Formats: sequence, structure tokens, C-alpha cells
Amino acid sequence: MNTLIHGIHHVTAIASDPQRNVDFYAGLLGLRLVKKTVNFDDPSAYHLYYGDTNGAPGSIVTFFYWPGGAGRGRVGAGQSTRLSFSAAPESLTYWVERLTAHGVAALRQIRFGEDVVTFVDPDGIPIEIVGAVGDSRNGWSGAGVPQEHALRGLHTTELTVTRAEPTTQLLTGVMGYRHVRSEGGRARYATVLRTPGTFIDVIAGADAVEGIGGVGTIHHVAWGVVDDAAQKNAHALLTGAGFVVSPVRDRSYFRSIYYRERGGILFEIATDIPGFAVDEPVDSLGTALKLPGQFEPARREIEALLPPLRAPRPTNHPMPIATRS
Ligand code: ZN
Repeated sequence: MNTLIHGIHHVTAIASDPQRNVDFYAGLLGLRLVKKTVNFDDPSAYHLYYGDTNGAPGSIVTFFYWPGGAGRGRVGAGQSTRLSFSAAPESLTYWVERLTAHGVAALRQIRFGEDVVTFVDPDGIPIEIVGAVGDSRNGWSGAGVPQEHALRGLHTTELTVTRAEPTTQLLTGVMGYRHVRSEGGRARYATVLRTPGTFIDVIAGADAVEGIGGVGTIHHVAWGVVDDAAQKNAHALLTGAGFVVSPVRDRSYFRSIYYRERGGILFEIATDIPGFAVDEPVDSLGTALKLPGQFEPARREIEALLPPLRAPRPTNHPMPIATRS
């Protein structure tokens, strides 16, 4: 699969309350809500997608919602353990001030020579903004975040496992990543591009607390390939390496295959095509509830089950806990 995977495509996490999630990711972090749809496996719950102006691969974060406080998870080994966004290095002071003004405690640190701000979202998902040199992507300047400070997309995929080797063998073998550098307990891998969005950090520790899936955790990470032919190659290579890979699933905005890496983390390979403009214009992405064809006949019943969502507001997110890594 060498060079087939171009980097991260999207990250999917589990949250409790859709409105609070919209207020945090669109209202406070200023991402664009690029798609409002339902969980294809449970159409009584939203599936919301955030990203840049076009919802470009590498900018996308998506959420499932498990309401009511049931099913809280625990961040730990066997998971991707942090949402990592990229911003201009000059923007981190802006972000610390914006987060603090809305009750979000943020810590600042240096990692791999870059300035990093860490905090958590309202469900406890660890987040960071990396001040990245040379990220040429344009972010979405929504929610009053000036264009120059906008988040530009995902930066790094952080994977936590109890043993590094089974995971890194997959990354450097079939998936085509290369080890770039290590610092502390963190080993960084990248595709040949070595640009924000193509980094994977592996944190390994036999004493790492075991992750439990649920609210406040990342469900899976998806790697991007340009088209179906590349995905087919990836499927064959992974199967050849002994992985159990799902059949192709149509996710409306991309097509996906899934496999579990040997550290326990669910991986997906998603196509860049057809993208989020396949069922609504770019100008109005995320404004109407979009349903896949099989659910369209039940639209009225589905809409009646979904809580109404108002436009994002930054609101206040009093959260005293932040994590250092
Ligand atoms: Zn996915």
C-alpha cells in the first residue's frame, strides 16, 4: 500500500449532547458543520461532521451521540487518544485566550519543537492545537475566528497501545509510514509527505490504562485514499498481511473499509470521493438534514426523533481539567 494512504481522512468520536457538541466544535473552535445526517446504523441519533470550507479529507472530525450519561468511556490503550488540530504558530496565544475566556482550561507545552495547547472537550476528549510551521491549508473562518487563526485541519493521529511493535509493524509495513523521530514515550511516524495531517504518534506503555469505548472517547480513525481502486489495493494488501477487513461500506460522502490493528484500535480506509458536496451545495453544507436513500421514506419519523439544533454559539464550557502529554 506504499504511498496509497496519503494521511488522515477523518476521526470519529462519541459525545453525549449534540447541541453542546455543536457549540464547542463549531461555536468555540470555529470548525464548519459540513454535514448534518444520522447514524446509518441507528437513524434515531445524529451523526455530525465538522471540517474546513469544503470538508476536505484531513480536516474532518465526526461524532456519534449517546445521550443520557449512559455509556461513558475511558480514554486509554487500544484507542486513538487525542484530537490534534493544526494552526499557525502565531495563533496559539489567540487560542489560549479564546479558550480561557469561555471557561476552558488550556495548558501550553513544547513537543517536537512545536508549541502545543492542550485542553479537553465537554465530554472529556483530549484535544490539542499544534502551532505548525508550513501548513498551507486554509481553515474555515466561522464563529468569529479570524481567518489567520482558523484551525487548518487535523495535525497528528495519536495512538496509545500497551506494546508498540504490533502497531508500528503495520504502520511501517503495509500502510507505508516511516519513523520520523521520538521524544519521551512518543514515536512519530509520517507518510512521505511529512506535512500536518500525515503524522501518527505512537505512545506505548505496558502500564497504560486500558481504554473503554463510550462517551468521551475516539471511536475510530480513518486513513485517506484517493479512490476506489486504491482502496481495493489496500484491502488486498491488508488481507494478505492477515488482517480481517470488512467489505466496502457506502457512507454517502466516502466509501469505507474497516479493520482492527493489533493494538486494538479500529482503523478505516476512506475514499476522498465523492465528498460532502455530493448532496448539497458547498455554500450551504451542513444546514439541512441529509438522509441516505434508504431512510428518505421515513424522514418525518426520523426528524421527530432528533432534537432540534440551533446555530452554534461559543457559550461557556467550564472545564477545569486539562491533560498534558
Ligand atoms: Zn469513519
